[in-house]
Amino acid sequence: PRANQIQQLGTDQYPETQGKCPVTVVVRVRPVDSDEAHGGFQQLSTTHVSILSAHEHLREHEFDHVCGPKSSQQDIFEVAGRPFMDHCLQGFNVSLFAYGQTSAGKTHTMTGNLSDPGQFGLAPRLLEHLFLQISEAEGREGPDKLKFTVKASYLELYKEVITDLLGPADGASLQLREDLCNGVYVEGLTEQEILNAGDAMAVVEQGSARRRTNETRMNQESSRSHAVLTVYIESWSRADSDVECIRSSRLNLIDLAGSERNTASGATGERLREACSINQSLTTLGRVISELVEAQQAAQAGGAPRHIPYRDSRLTFLLQDSLGGNSKTLIVACVSPAEAHAAETASTLEFAQRAKRIRNRARINRDTRGDEQLLRREIERLKRELEARD
Ligand code: ADP
Ligand code: MG
Repeated sequence: PRANQIQQLGTDQYPETQGKCPVTVVVRVRPVDSDEAHGGFQQLSTTHVSILSAHEHLREHEFDHVCGPKSSQQDIFEVAGRPFMDHCLQGFNVSLFAYGQTSAGKTHTMTGNLSDPGQFGLAPRLLEHLFLQISEAEGREGPDKLKFTVKASYLELYKEVITDLLGPADGASLQLREDLCNGVYVEGLTEQEILNAGDAMAVVEQGSARRRTNETRMNQESSRSHAVLTVYIESWSRADSDVECIRSSRLNLIDLAGSERNTASGATGERLREACSINQSLTTLGRVISELVEAQQAAQAGGAPRHIPYRDSRLTFLLQDSLGGNSKTLIVACVSPAEAHAAETASTLEFAQRAKRIRNRARINRDTRGDEQLLRREIERLKRELEARD
């Protein structure tokens, strides 16, 4: 019965539950600027779009959903936010990526304007929804009562260097580590405890203010940097008096660097190498997606497992579970409808089409032997303490 209660937290808008589930792709079209000409792009329905361009064939693409230029921040939340927060509350890991060329609306979609609640993007809306659900579940009586702890971290990745947006302003760059207990993690990254929606908003504000400072100082960098906001959710329930059930999940919100290839085009030698290092994570993301799709097809045909180059960039190493692993993943492909951007729009839609073919294997992260999990963590903590003494 308790499992049912938790299921009720979710509105299963997308039919997949546990097991193999495809990556969901939503296209968001931004409005044209006043000085831009329409015409690079045509929305055919709530799931189909096509590219119109002098240089390209008319190509039709199908997605899980297309949000047109008039779609509001609330519309995006209903399509790409609420159902995924609900999955996360059930104990699934969730990753939401915003992909697209610079100015296509990635940051608008993920963060939005934090001084205008009507223009809040996914992050503040998701966190508000999370704490509404938490206060409902914590307010229940009896065995259905749940208890939650929530933490958040916020990092920026630029030229393969990881910076903690919640840590000291002049903090050193951080390293990725991997061990059996924690999987892949960023060593020393601040994980801030969040008690309510107000705390959550403060984290989003602090992180994006730190990002914005960079933006005004070096505009180029901000469009080439990736930002990852992670929310860690743990819930406890007591089925019988002494058996604890712990569910732990994480929500990754990833505002990717601009996908345009202008830095690499025409560049040779040193300049090309530099451009590649700036966008190593984005290039590797594309390769991981292509190779995953091929590997999964080959596996279906009975072929041997293939190597996927997750470790070739920090982004794909950190987020490897989001691509082909234990996660429910959604990509918002942000595009401009302007004629001038038709080629970039076509390339974004092709990327999104490829990503849609990936199958993940999401499962509820549940541990009914809560004490064992706590003990394992305590052992790990003590090990680290010992190592630090050596
Ligand atoms: P990106 O992060 O992809 O580089 P931004 O989100 O910063 O792009 O968007 C560029 C500009 O366009 C911003 O001023 C933003 O407010 C505006 N914008 C983007 N998408 C929309 C939208 N759907 N509706 C209204 N304004 C938008
Ligand atoms: Mg941006």
